[in-house]
Amino acid sequence: MRNTLFTADRKLKWDSSTCATCCLCNIGDESRNHQFFQCVYSAEIWNSLTKGLLGQYFTTDWTSLVQVLANNDRDSQCQLIACYALHIAIHSVWKEGNRGNHGEPPLSATTLHKIIDKNIRNLLVLLVNSHEKQYEGLLQIWFGTKV
Ligand SMILES: [Zn+2]
Repeated sequence: MRNTLFTADRKLKWDSSTCATCCLCNIGDESRNHQFFQCVYSAEIWNSLTKGLLGQYFTTDWTSLVQVLANNDRDSQCQLIACYALHIAIHSVWKEGNRGNHGEPPLSATTLHKIIDKNIRNLLVLLVNSHEKQYEGLLQIWFGTKV
């Protein structure tokens, strides 16, 4: 949120020999906004995770996404799921970027999507099993948004 991740655009300020190219797509320059979710790799994942959930509010633009998720006018359960999806997606994409920066090939976007989706479902199961009223129906919403 504070744009303090050690992305290539920031590394370049310290070391001019740093490669600025995103190791996930090998097309764009790595920055927070590129990695979340302007990059074709992460955009594919974010799209398949949340397009159905966010509907008309879906975006891959970081600034717009933060505004959408901070808007309390939307359904609170959808907002909760979208925030969890964002947290898990950011962690997972960042981890894959680190793999790439250390010479390992990142997982395919399809494989990473499946892992993130499973993590979201596991989290939602935990919430639903807490038997708190506000978490009822979270899994139905998540499965209902799949296209
Ligand atoms: Zn990229």
